[in-house]
Amino acid sequence: GKPVCECNTCYGGPHCSLFSPDCAADADGGDPLFLEPFWMQNPAGSAVLISGWHRMSYAFPGSSFISQELENHIRRVHSIAKNAVTEGKYIVYGTGSTQLLSAAVFALSMNLSSPAKIVAQAPYYPTYRVQTDFFQTAWFGFQGDASELKNTSGDGAEVIEFVTSPNNPDAQLRNGVLQGPHVKAIYDHAYYWPHYTAIPAPADEDLMIFTISKLTGHAGSRFGWALVKDKQVYENMMNYIQIAELGTSKDTQLRALQLLRAIHGQKIFHFAYKTMSNRWEKLSEIVSRSNRFTIQEIPPRFCNFFEEVRGPSPAYAWLKCEREEDSNCRAVLRAAKIIGREGSLFESDDRYVRLSLLRSQDDFDLLLRRLNDLISEEKGAQ
Ligand code: PMP
Repeated sequence: GKPVCECNTCYGGPHCSLFSPDCAADADGGDPLFLEPFWMQNPAGSAVLISGWHRMSYAFPGSSFISQELENHIRRVHSIAKNAVTEGKYIVYGTGSTQLLSAAVFALSMNLSSPAKIVAQAPYYPTYRVQTDFFQTAWFGFQGDASELKNTSGDGAEVIEFVTSPNNPDAQLRNGVLQGPHVKAIYDHAYYWPHYTAIPAPADEDLMIFTISKLTGHAGSRFGWALVKDKQVYENMMNYIQIAELGTSKDTQLRALQLLRAIHGQKIFHFAYKTMSNRWEKLSEIVSRSNRFTIQEIPPRFCNFFEEVRGPSPAYAWLKCEREEDSNCRAVLRAAKIIGREGSLFESDDRYVRLSLLRSQDDFDLLLRRLNDLISEEKGAQ
């Protein structure tokens, strides 16, 4: 008969109940839908209704583009998570943290006499390269892997290092690899939440960027913030946002406010950690039976939030194909109906593939199933 509903791509039949054997496991992208059930379980207080006549102006009363109440809640949530020091820091809002990455590069390189070199230690999140190349100006240019710059003697040019901690793709906690009077760092702390990592200490860098995409899971709202110590850098970033956007959407700020208000205890962090650590355990168990594939090691660490040593719960698996002939790991996985992101995108080797672990439960379950099938075919697999 005719289908009664639009089936999800992996299902067919009249009631969408027949699993399609050809369906590939999608472990691409960084959509954080693992948090969807949390909001379903906590609907009270997280919904937003905006009347037609509400907040129509460009600015809030007092001509500010920034909701002070939201700022207070951001500081409060950091103090619950114990992941960042907000005292003595200015806050800048952006259309996702993506916009703030660019604003930070401009703010740190404006008016320099020679162009700043923008670097990141490989493997790094590709947006740093793509965005810097795209928006290139006389003030800065992308220079590639920070580790390579480390070995060359400095020519006096300013260097701006993106430091992603924990790192996307491999979840390692990081510090900048470059040091010195000519080096400035942009700390991308998108994943520095108890969801994804132990928090050894509250982060206290001069320029740190966060996003609700990976905190509450609302990637579509496009809201991020920067904590900035230096007043001039803060003003440069605000200026960037003003020129590019005339301020961040008030509707988005209202939604972010409502979501952060709904984080009044530790509940979301416990939910997220439990989900992600459980996923990592299941994935590790399957990969440990293989001689062909490995995943990154993440040592247990003391966590300032949980006040105990805790195991890993990363957002991504950084999977390696160990066999000589499997130099295109993405293709090996693709043939086994698993879609991941190739290592070369992260300025690494194509022996590596990034697999997203933060998608919906259906996506994750299918990933486990496909990996299990692939590894069970191996000779000598346990
Ligand atoms: N930084 C890192 C390291 C990321 O992985 C992402 C999203 N995948 C972003 C920044 C951008 O996030 P958003 O623009 O949604 O805040």
